[in-house]
Amino acid sequence: MQTSVIGFPRIGTLRELKFASEKYFKKEITTEELLQTGKTLRETHWNTQKKAGIDYISCNDFSYYDMLLDTAVLFNIIPKRYKELNLSETDTYFAMARGYQGTSGDVKALAMKKWFNTNYHYIVPEIEDDTEIRLSGNKPFEEYNEAKAIGIETKPVVIGAYTLLKLCRCTGKKSLNDYEDAAIKAYQDFLKKCEENEIAWIQFDEPALVQDMDSKDAALFHKIYDAVLSVKDKSQVLLQTYFGDVRDIYADLIKMPFDGIGLDFMEGKETYALIEKYDFPQDKLLFAGLINGKNIWKNHYEKTMQTLTKLQEREIRSVLSTSCSLLHVPYTVKHESVLSAKYLSYFAFAEEKLTELADLKKLAESKDYHAEAAYQENTKLFAEERDCFNADVHKRLSLVTESDYVREPIRSERHKLQKNELALPEFPTTTIGSFPQTKDVKANRSAYRRGEISEKEYKEFNKRKIAECVRWQEEIGLDVLVHGEYERNDMVEYFGESLGGFLFTEKAWVQSYGTRCVKPPIIWGDVYREKPITVEWSVYAQSLTEKIMKGMLTGPVTILNWSFPREDISIKESISQIALAIRDEVLDLERNGIRIIQIDEAALREKLPLRKSDWQKEYLDFAIPAFRLTHSGVKPETQIHTHMCYSEFTDIIPAIDNMDADVITFEASRSDLQILTSLKEHNFETEVGPGVYDIHSPRVPSVEEIVAALHTMLSKIDKEKLWVNPDCGLKTRGTPETEKSLKNLVEAAKLIRDEA
Ligand code: GLN
Ligand code: ZN
Repeated sequence: MQTSVIGFPRIGTLRELKFASEKYFKKEITTEELLQTGKTLRETHWNTQKKAGIDYISCNDFSYYDMLLDTAVLFNIIPKRYKELNLSETDTYFAMARGYQGTSGDVKALAMKKWFNTNYHYIVPEIEDDTEIRLSGNKPFEEYNEAKAIGIETKPVVIGAYTLLKLCRCTGKKSLNDYEDAAIKAYQDFLKKCEENEIAWIQFDEPALVQDMDSKDAALFHKIYDAVLSVKDKSQVLLQTYFGDVRDIYADLIKMPFDGIGLDFMEGKETYALIEKYDFPQDKLLFAGLINGKNIWKNHYEKTMQTLTKLQEREIRSVLSTSCSLLHVPYTVKHESVLSAKYLSYFAFAEEKLTELADLKKLAESKDYHAEAAYQENTKLFAEERDCFNADVHKRLSLVTESDYVREPIRSERHKLQKNELALPEFPTTTIGSFPQTKDVKANRSAYRRGEISEKEYKEFNKRKIAECVRWQEEIGLDVLVHGEYERNDMVEYFGESLGGFLFTEKAWVQSYGTRCVKPPIIWGDVYREKPITVEWSVYAQSLTEKIMKGMLTGPVTILNWSFPREDISIKESISQIALAIRDEVLDLERNGIRIIQIDEAALREKLPLRKSDWQKEYLDFAIPAFRLTHSGVKPETQIHTHMCYSEFTDIIPAIDNMDADVITFEASRSDLQILTSLKEHNFETEVGPGVYDIHSPRVPSVEEIVAALHTMLSKIDKEKLWVNPDCGLKTRGTPETEKSLKNLVEAAKLIRDEA
């Protein structure tokens, strides 16, 4: 039995790469210094894996920003506007990733999208009409040789041609089909160069194979690999898939001349059934993804050994592998000093997963694995009762009935009542919640966390900020105000910290994109609300103004999607528990005089299953009702808002309407406003506030620009239903630009009102 790791985290145990990159961006260190940090990290990661006894270790899984961008650069997919900046290789790369503004020019970054069903964002490569796809980079070979120089044989990993083509965007007249042949040739050249370098194994990552594939997709896949594999000689090729099963292509796959096929047994619901149905050929290695690369719980050896034993009985030559790259989990539990050893004993981050691979390898080779210490210890852990059960939570959930998911009366009736009650002007203006989190806000929070100031001092500071923020919004003339969210570091962490059932780590960072890392909370047990969370802030803010103060909450789906979920109960059950906790907060806000409550579901789209056939039953059927459960208890006059980011939700519009909110605001300014057409087609009932300007950039939108955006919106949206707001929260923006932008926003709304 051998072991394999699909990919290792790269940001560094203590986020060394993040800090070095940020210094580099500020010109505080040289290119050489940055590259040296990268080199040191790679060596550390290889040595860690080697020491753990991993047989198949990857290279080129390291990236200075993103692996899809690396692949694009490797194959010369670099838009002209970046080449024309005439920057160094490193700086051209970063210009694509982050945009460039300086003496050589002014270009925006390439778009960013979520990597399949994860919270990792990749850079979307752009192919222009005259892009010449060809092997032009050296990174995989340099890294391979770098590892070799320290005595470690690695397998270079690149994103495969099928997935690359699926994720690229054509910006000219040509379409992706026009680039198939060039891409094939480029990958052939890559493979040939691997042969020249006497590389034993190459890993092509093809996660796009776990999505629905039609006959055209299958034909493309065949076309690519029949050609690419035809130049294969001594090097062996591993076709690596992850994030699901490959049911649409499995039967073909096993007949093709791959030397290894990597399958995901964690998220691949049908992986084992496929093997049973079609078998697995003797001439190939099965890289069995049995160690969960996406979650932080320890592997249950008993279950894994059962699967491994079944594979052995079928005489399948298996390599024990992670289910996906370990990029999606933190480095190690070693740096956690606050969580007790008892809690930590349940977790396996990336490094601990290496130990699991080594343990299981030994067990698989043992004559009687049941007698092995590692096995017994693991079995004991899983037999123990975790302190995660809360009888009240279960009782309450069992009492929830169908009617608790339904808000009365119907939305159109509520609409009339709310019009009267709230007396808002036409085209009401509002913001999404957070205001600039300036240095002083962050400093106040850290001082409190470090115990340098008292709770009273901490709160007084925030209240001063709230008062300023309210005054500011009144001055500008916004209609529905917010308190500014100064008390929140992160919209999920903040709620997690105030809810029972969550655990927090200190250093368990996971890369979200580029230099940005997140520290997802861990859902340890049954979730409940211990005490009111936001009421004090909202009530205080409301006391300062005659205008309506909007209460701000994070919804259950987003809280769950941005946490590490439990594996002992279903996602559906966890979401319902969180929904009840948020429901308590909604009702408390209402009871305390808050008349508009926004429940953010920024991440609703994120965990939508990769296969359409699973959307309804495996997600929407419980995610949407969970949202309804949070607000169905309020009075008809109370207005419920929700907010969503990443506007790729054209395909789930009926489901969004079904959340039964009164108003939804969403990110729209960077999309092509195609969403508006979709809303119209579906007779979308919820009132809408498509963002009128992009908050990811410091740019101030002009009044004319906003008026123009509103005109476009009005061509598709009923004027009774249109709200005016930015794309998202203003937390990352500076104060001056925010002030100017919001003034223009209010001005634009006034102009539109005058026209009406
Ligand atoms: N209310 C949050 C804010 O304004 C929403 C953030 C988000 O959608 N990502 O920051
Ligand atoms: Zn948002």
